[in-house]
Amino acid sequence: MRKTIGKRFRWYTDERSRMKATVDKETCIGGGLCRDICPAVFITNDDAKAGVALTPVPPDTTAACREAVASCPVGAITLTAG
Ligand code: SF4
Repeated sequence: MRKTIGKRFRWYTDERSRMKATVDKETCIGGGLCRDICPAVFITNDDAKAGVALTPVPPDTTAACREAVASCPVGAITLTAG
């Protein structure tokens, strides 16, 4: 999404809102809830724990990533401004 503010300034919200996702493998207990909520970003690795397949997070998946963060039962996912 791009907003135009006045005639001279543009605010490229997509680039500025890019987030980086990480999973703390020591904390993750598996189960794949994050993958179910946001399959474009989260995967299940061979060790049954979650991983990040795509980062920075595409802007159209940011809401799903935030839901995955909120839904993770052990708080293993972190989203940070990229
Ligand atoms: S929701 Fe949390 S505990 Fe479950 S797989 Fe994802 S990171 Fe691991």
